[in-house]
Amino acid sequence: MSNNNFAIANEASLYIHIPFCQTKCFYCDFNTYAKLESLIPSYINALESEAIFWSNYFNKTEIKSIFIGGGTPSYIPSKYIEKLMETIFYKFKLTKDSEITLESNPNDLTKSNLKTYYKSGINRISLGVQTFDNSLLKVLGRRHSSQNAIEAYYLIKESGFKNINLDLMYGLPNQSTDKWVDTLYQLLSLKPLHVSMYALTLEEGTPMNEWIKEGKLPKQNDDIVADMYSKTEEIMSKNNYLHYEISNWAISGFESKHNINYWKNKTYIGIGPGAHSYIPPYRFSNIKSPREYTKHLNNLNLDEFNFRLINNEKLKFIDTSEIINTELEMSETIMLGLRLNSGIDIEQFKIRFDINPLDKYSNNFDELNNHNLIEITEDNIKLTPKGRLLSNEVFLKFF
Ligand code: SF4
Repeated sequence: MSNNNFAIANEASLYIHIPFCQTKCFYCDFNTYAKLESLIPSYINALESEAIFWSNYFNKTEIKSIFIGGGTPSYIPSKYIEKLMETIFYKFKLTKDSEITLESNPNDLTKSNLKTYYKSGINRISLGVQTFDNSLLKVLGRRHSSQNAIEAYYLIKESGFKNINLDLMYGLPNQSTDKWVDTLYQLLSLKPLHVSMYALTLEEGTPMNEWIKEGKLPKQNDDIVADMYSKTEEIMSKNNYLHYEISNWAISGFESKHNINYWKNKTYIGIGPGAHSYIPPYRFSNIKSPREYTKHLNNLNLDEFNFRLINNEKLKFIDTSEIINTELEMSETIMLGLRLNSGIDIEQFKIRFDINPLDKYSNNFDELNNHNLIEITEDNIKLTPKGRLLSNEVFLKFF
């Protein structure tokens, strides 16, 4: 294959989408489906075909991180994850430092599937806890209890995994700041190395959004959500967690390589339906339907085609594509970099774009600085605590 009109990076991340869930949570609008289990075997073959396709271009690229997400990867039989990982290890260049994460649901984990994941080369487990409050888990439509989550966490540890992320959500209907703080202390008692905490966002078309519109559930008050966030920052920092990104905390040395690659606006390849890729200068997304995706990929003759996005002869499994010009790449690099608590590295920006970000966006930065939303040091530009609370407004300045 020689028709490369995109850049082959030295390093990249790989995202693998598993679009299956046992049940659909009430708040979720991800591209994931319940009752589609019959598709799993052919779907995994399709994923492997897409992985092989990309490996033809990226076989010399060091894959710094892999994230198997979804959906619920732990819901499908672990033999499929094992098969998939064999192909990935065979086709891509991974090192002993590559971070390989699998997303999981507390109810799915057993000694046996954790052993398979470990043997397959997975070295990080992300556990979807969301809250330790059983009544709120019911409001969310989750299928596990707080006790299930705690047991699953210890089982993961006993199975040899050190690097564990816990996913939590705050700003839930009927959640008081005190209830959230209780969850935070339960979380801290487990001593995970990494924690992601996101405020609930209400998505159109989800049952939860409808119930709130109909007044069957109360909408969370923005001031209370901001208060929860401030409390989180305070409590996590007292307990030695680095707040390295707006919604992510880690014990030093365990910041997620996969997330950092996104926030540094570097190359990532997304495989699976609805997955997004950024292979400069292209950003594109795959078709969303798992059935259509599986059909196209399983009919693909890997020797027959080239990647010709420029000529608009898109591959059938690709849905949307756009060329990211330098202007847009710069503003996205600013926006994503500001998410990191280390901020934008001025020198790195200058090397990448041949311009000082402080000159390029002088008006924006002056205004944000005057409002105490950013802080400029000799080396970095970063959000202040006030800027983190108002981050969406800050990001809008660059678009
Ligand atoms: S388990 Fe995750 S992906 Fe599946 S429905 Fe619930 S929130 Fe969505």
